[in-house]
Amino acid sequence: MAEMTNAFQMAQKQFDGVAELLNLDPDVREILRWPTREFAFQVPVRMESGGIRTFQGFRVQHSDVRGPSKGGIRFHPSETLDTVRALAMWMTWKCAVVDIPLGGGKGGVVVDPATLSTTEKERLCRGWIQQIYRNIGPRQDVPAPDVGTTPQMMGWMMDEYSKLVGEFTPGVITGKPLGGGGSLGRTEATGFGVIYTIREAMKHLKMDSTKTTAAFQGFGNVSQYAAIGFNKFLGGKVICVSYWDREDRTSYTVSKADGIDPVFLQSITDQYGSINKDMARKEGYQIESGDAWIEKDVDVLVPAALEGQVNAESVKKVSDRVKIVAEGANGPTTPEADAVFQKNGVFLIPDFLCNAGGVTVSYFESVQNDMNYYWPQQEVLEKLDFKMTSAFESVLELSVKEKVFMRQAAYMVAIGRVVKAMELRGWI
Ligand code: NAD
Repeated sequence: MAEMTNAFQMAQKQFDGVAELLNLDPDVREILRWPTREFAFQVPVRMESGGIRTFQGFRVQHSDVRGPSKGGIRFHPSETLDTVRALAMWMTWKCAVVDIPLGGGKGGVVVDPATLSTTEKERLCRGWIQQIYRNIGPRQDVPAPDVGTTPQMMGWMMDEYSKLVGEFTPGVITGKPLGGGGSLGRTEATGFGVIYTIREAMKHLKMDSTKTTAAFQGFGNVSQYAAIGFNKFLGGKVICVSYWDREDRTSYTVSKADGIDPVFLQSITDQYGSINKDMARKEGYQIESGDAWIEKDVDVLVPAALEGQVNAESVKKVSDRVKIVAEGANGPTTPEADAVFQKNGVFLIPDFLCNAGGVTVSYFESVQNDMNYYWPQQEVLEKLDFKMTSAFESVLELSVKEKVFMRQAAYMVAIGRVVKAMELRGWI
């Protein structure tokens, strides 16, 4: 049988497995297996050439039972409705597992943003809002950045929404730039959150974090701050990061046996997470093939690029030494690879727990927008650490008690909370 790589089928399969464990009512399962609402639309953009190009846009609201739907907008050339559906569903579980009062949503545009000028990008962002503004809002559905989008783009979108509804509405979108309604700590939030969960996993496994090594896939927003945090908070060494090279249209792994300097690499990385490999080489880094990261003899693997990267084939290359897999990306591990990790006793921190730092600080951002009062960075990061650590503890506790894998325990915690809200609201 061909391996399942469709992200939405994967998300449904994971859900079905846990629904079975929880003995969920079939009618409730049917509600939660599908998005509540989905929108697909065209966004025509006047290009610099004078012509008009039409882009396909999506917004999917999986659930709003615990609060407004919440989730990023991804600008990617291979975006599909099914990817957006899967990501929207994962957002529902993510918000529930960290216990923030929000539901799950996700958006997308089929585009390679690197091929657009700044003006074209701005028009595309404003056009996306023009198509969907009636169906989003601080009390309905709150988008945020994801792959291929930036705080500036969120700023344009917030501005367009505010103009269309006739009032300044910073709470319609999160991940906004600082000074434009953004929160301190949002940029670092997802990556640092990944590290807080790795720290807790290491405590549980009684590992000395200062003696550990890690290999990362991706070097974008999540991976950069996770790599920095791995050095700064855990005292461990990051051996390599991989990335997609926009010029060569292939991926590479940038490595140094005695540990990379993520701050230096960040300084030679563009806004799309593409590293200047010539400058890296000059500083003594080795440039290896794109999949070299997964074969490294390290204690921790952090897939933090795209979904489906750790699959039936690539999992065979994972070293026996690997004790922790921390899913920085959404859906990086296919069910087949997941089964291999379970069999080999690898401690896996599931995506919607591991990378929940971003949405947690997005939530803090809306709280600050509502109060019109902004917290210092340290306060944001302390609150983030508290949320991530509490979520990790509740999942670990259930995983030990029920003797289930961390992913299942995280689903059980999250789905349990969503179903509880459905009951409380009289939906079921
Ligand atoms: P990003 O666009 O900033 O970076 C993506 C990185 O992955 C880039 O370095 C890119 O070069 C690299 N990449 C792409 N294809 C690759 C390949 N085939 N091999 C190796 N590297 C590749 O994106 P991001 O914001 O860091 O998001 C990464 C993942 O984390 C996504 O799955 C996203 O949904 C998820 N996520 C992001 C956030 C957030 O706050 N940014 C929050 C939660 C989850």
